[in-house]
Amino acid sequence: MSRYWSDIVSRLQPYVAGEQPRIPGLVKLNTNENPYGPSPKALEAIRQAADDRLRLYPDPAATELRETIAARHGLTAGEVFVGNGSDEVLAHTFQALLKHERPLLYPDVTYSFYPTYSLLYDIEAIEIPVDDGFQIRLADYDRPCGAIIIPNPNAPTGIGLPLADIEALVAAHPGAVVVIDEAYVDFGGDSAVPLIPKYPNLLVIQTLSKSRSFAGLRVGFALGQRDLIEALVRVKDSFNSYPLDRLAQVAATAAIEDEAWFETCRKKLIASRDGLVRELEALAFQVLPSQANFVFARHDSRSSATLLAALRKRGVLVRQFAKPRISDFLRISIGTDEECARLIAALKEIL
Ligand code: PMP
Repeated sequence: MSRYWSDIVSRLQPYVAGEQPRIPGLVKLNTNENPYGPSPKALEAIRQAADDRLRLYPDPAATELRETIAARHGLTAGEVFVGNGSDEVLAHTFQALLKHERPLLYPDVTYSFYPTYSLLYDIEAIEIPVDDGFQIRLADYDRPCGAIIIPNPNAPTGIGLPLADIEALVAAHPGAVVVIDEAYVDFGGDSAVPLIPKYPNLLVIQTLSKSRSFAGLRVGFALGQRDLIEALVRVKDSFNSYPLDRLAQVAATAAIEDEAWFETCRKKLIASRDGLVRELEALAFQVLPSQANFVFARHDSRSSATLLAALRKRGVLVRQFAKPRISDFLRISIGTDEECARLIAALKEIL
């Protein structure tokens, strides 16, 4: 702590990202990356764009990318905001739309960036506990609030809410901004995007990091009616007019256009997840129902810390969280079938 720090910085507990070790050959199932790699067409687009034009600033409005995203979702470019990963889109959302006289609501447990952003941007937040089965209970959100943010599927549980529940939440709070963070929606969740034309208070955030295999590129986006999107643009332009570099813009555009690659990878991943759940259950793990590219699992016979360390010794990385309510669980990202098999083989040695 320093006398030069602001009060908020002194109290910040920054989000700690998962380990990115430089050791080759590890089975890396700790940060929800996609094992299949980005669209080859998107990689080619990067190669084509990596030339002398990099001396020029990128399009500050990322118009082509926004038009491409809009077309895919049946929206207009004015209903699309893009940023440097959905973390940055979320940060701008907190700054622009979630601070009100009334509190912000989000689940406990959920994505641990939300408390960090709430503190950083001085937003009063109330955490609404999930139930004993880690489900979000809609009735608990029936209280005065200025805004709500919920990931669907939730993180790190992987549990999804049906569209009817999301609609009920958005409809019940016309005076509040409701943000649905759909980082993992493409792995079996129900997207709220079709509700956007009906609800001016709904903002949906998605990312290219998971289902498009571009975690290293840093592209995320928000979809909503123009009024909400304009607020995000105002904040972005007051912060960094060029959040998306030239290579990210062309690659993301090509990745969104490559529907065939997206479908193939996502279907393979869902099949691997279903197989991994069966194998984990056969080893007596309790596995929460997942609609994401990870599973959240615990075992009665060993603590998650013991399992994590024993797996690491065998070259398999998984993730564990310090929060008491979930510290018993391991979050295991879905890898290729070979990677999942290595995880299971390692667990059989350990248990
Ligand atoms: N939302 C949720 C719920 C997440 O788990 C993540 C990944 N850590 C993100 C947003 C951010 O993803 P990215 O910044 O890579 O788009």
